[in-house]
Amino acid sequence: MHEKCGVVGISLEDRSAARPLYYSLYALQHRGQESAGIVTHDGFQQHSHVEMGLVGDVFDEDDLAQLNGSNGIGHVRYPTAGSVNACCAQPFSVSFKSGSLGLSHNGNLVNTPDIRSELADLGHAFTSDGDTEVIAHDLARNLLESDLVRAVKRTMNRIHGSYSLTIMHDDTVLGVRDPQGNRPLCIGDLGDGYVLASESAAIDTLDGELVRDVQPGELVVLHPDGTGYDTYQLVDADSTAHCFFEHVYFARPDSNIDEKLVYDVRRELGRKLYEENGIDTDVVLPVPDSGRAFASGYADAAQDAGADVDFAEGLMKNRYVGRTFIMPTQDERERAVRLKLNPIKNTVEGKSVTLIDDSIVRGTTSTQLVQLMRDAGAEEVHVRIGAPPIIAPCYMGIDMASREELIAADKSIEEIREEIKADSLSYLSIDAIADALDSTRGDLCLGCVTGEYPYDIEDEATDREVNRPTIEPSPADD
Ligand code: 5GP
Ligand code: MG
Repeated sequence: MHEKCGVVGISLEDRSAARPLYYSLYALQHRGQESAGIVTHDGFQQHSHVEMGLVGDVFDEDDLAQLNGSNGIGHVRYPTAGSVNACCAQPFSVSFKSGSLGLSHNGNLVNTPDIRSELADLGHAFTSDGDTEVIAHDLARNLLESDLVRAVKRTMNRIHGSYSLTIMHDDTVLGVRDPQGNRPLCIGDLGDGYVLASESAAIDTLDGELVRDVQPGELVVLHPDGTGYDTYQLVDADSTAHCFFEHVYFARPDSNIDEKLVYDVRRELGRKLYEENGIDTDVVLPVPDSGRAFASGYADAAQDAGADVDFAEGLMKNRYVGRTFIMPTQDERERAVRLKLNPIKNTVEGKSVTLIDDSIVRGTTSTQLVQLMRDAGAEEVHVRIGAPPIIAPCYMGIDMASREELIAADKSIEEIREEIKADSLSYLSIDAIADALDSTRGDLCLGCVTGEYPYDIEDEATDREVNRPTIEPSPADD
């Protein structure tokens, strides 16, 4: 199961959290379109509304009106082909002996089977096969024996993988980021309360101020009365494993992640793409929307170098077509690209063209677009990609197709160029990514472009020393 999601948590002084949660989920909709949900707490009990569908369709006025309380969490979940599954919609909520628990998870754990079977032996019943429920049960059990902070710490010492969580224990909202900070999470100040969200764009939407990123291994506990928050650095790791793909594709360009504005990173990657493998053509053309910032950086670098190129919006996107990536069959995916994108003929007719996109996954988009350019009369079509070749699957929460489907898994760049029928094709280097993020290979998760992961994943190689916790048959105390 690959969950690529958006999470949020809000505590306010004296106003209902439902509407700000709803707006935040709107701001995070790009992180998940399969289901949306909000769980609030009014000081006495939990209220929950979780359904399949887009945020705008899932909630109406009545739904928001019954989500009482000034504390709550929310979630949007990403669709994975074939597994449209209502039981995995979130936030997950349970009531147990020491209260109620709600949980929203972005990321993916790699050792849940061990924990699940241990908990099952202790009598815990599971209603889904998702890892979020495993975290919830583990936390619930730990809460029977210890306070909130210690309970979270215990659970963090048992789970292995990537997670940014917003949790609600009774009316207390917390945020947790895994010790290597694989998925983003940040804190915002709303004036009359605080918000935890996957991306800062959600804070902007609420007219709040970004305070900072939640640190890897940090727990943030919002005061239920909206007056502040406490933080606890619970686990320290030697290195981080920030997902570079958040910056390349997944996050909104107007979000700040780990102190970098995603838009600036993409422009910088575009510049580097030109510096590494630029080619001077009549026009530079972004593949909307994800290729835009790359193409503008690329065209800037070309112009700085004295090239006579035009930056042109030569492909128009039908904004009513959703993300096409998840269409289950190849035929449908090809049709969908054509539905989604249409060239403006006279910007490309008789010209040499450079198409810029953020990434190639299966190769469907590039193949279709190269053909489209030729049909529109382009004389040459060059393709430049703002990420390295994606050669391996993501286990950390980005749904990126299986290894067999990845065009770069077993082909050279020249073979890919042939297959997509481009006149030339270049990708960006891994070093350029690390540079643009002011980071190093050792502090990034580059699993999908190296095949080596910063976590201990069964049957996969790891690029660093990692500790996979051993799950004892009976709980070991900390
Ligand atoms: P391809 O057509 O090669 O399979 O996919 C590449 C296109 O899908 C690019 O335009 C890129 O912006 C987009 N893309 C890359 N990764 C993902 C992903 O994880 N999910 C979705 N929905 N689209 C993606
Ligand atoms: Mg795209």
